[in-house]
Amino acid sequence: MKTRILLLGGTGDALQIARVLSASDVYSVAGIGKTPAGLTCIVRTGGFGGAQGLQAYLEAERIGLLIDATHPFAARISGNASIASRAAGVPYWALRRAPWQPQSGDDWRFVDDWPQIVAALAPFRRPLFTLGREPLAHLDDIPVHQYWVVRCLDAHAGNARASVIGARGPFTVDGERALFGMLGIDVVVSKNSGGSATAAKLEVARERGLPVVMTRRPELPAADREFDGVSELLSALTKWSSDS
Ligand code: NAP
Repeated sequence: MKTRILLLGGTGDALQIARVLSASDVYSVAGIGKTPAGLTCIVRTGGFGGAQGLQAYLEAERIGLLIDATHPFAARISGNASIASRAAGVPYWALRRAPWQPQSGDDWRFVDDWPQIVAALAPFRRPLFTLGREPLAHLDDIPVHQYWVVRCLDAHAGNARASVIGARGPFTVDGERALFGMLGIDVVVSKNSGGSATAAKLEVARERGLPVVMTRRPELPAADREFDGVSELLSALTKWSSDS
């Protein structure tokens, strides 16, 4: 009998992997974004109930391989996946795409948390936040000299000193140029997500000589096998399927 795969996702990379899974495999999303349609595999939505819940799921569903293709800032589910896979004796593979690196001419200011972001932004007037929903909780605390532009997956009400743009990548360099110019952006706030889908903002910041306040990645657990791109992981999966 074919070994079942559980793929943890919620990213564009994960969706590419999900497209090659077979009907008995499972693609799992947290349920905060759109539930993907048109997949052959089973799609499940929502948490497992911590590492113990995930272990119970692996055992009950007779999962033989756990693949973690969650976002590099989704550290809790990756930590749970590492613990649960070990406890259940299931191999744990992870897609760990490389972080972005500053290039010559870049002015990146590295930070670890929200208070450090606020401090790094003090000299600027028109930040573009590309961190997801986190800034929405702080729209009442905007410093008087700033006007914020917050880009996140879903639209949300702004206020007199903030606009919220609901948009999903990938984003193009031309699109980012137009956005930065139209809104007078003077600093970009980003997670160090890596990959190409949202990298255009960094190119446009470089072109315009703008600083980037860059959030460092959280620490992630080691996996049995780690891949820095979807194609490497898919090649390993093809080999693994033919061997098992
Ligand atoms: P997180 O803090 O690591 O996880 C929070 C909880 O959400 C987990 O403990 C788990 O609940 C549940 N969960 C997360 N991913 C899941 C999945 N693929 N399938 C089932 N349950 C999942 O994650 P997060 O930062 O909130 O991100 C949530 C999801 O959005 C992830 O799937 C991630 O890939 C995606 N995403 C995150 C970011 C980001 O910047 N954080 C960006 C793009 C996409 P239980 O403990 O109950 O199992």
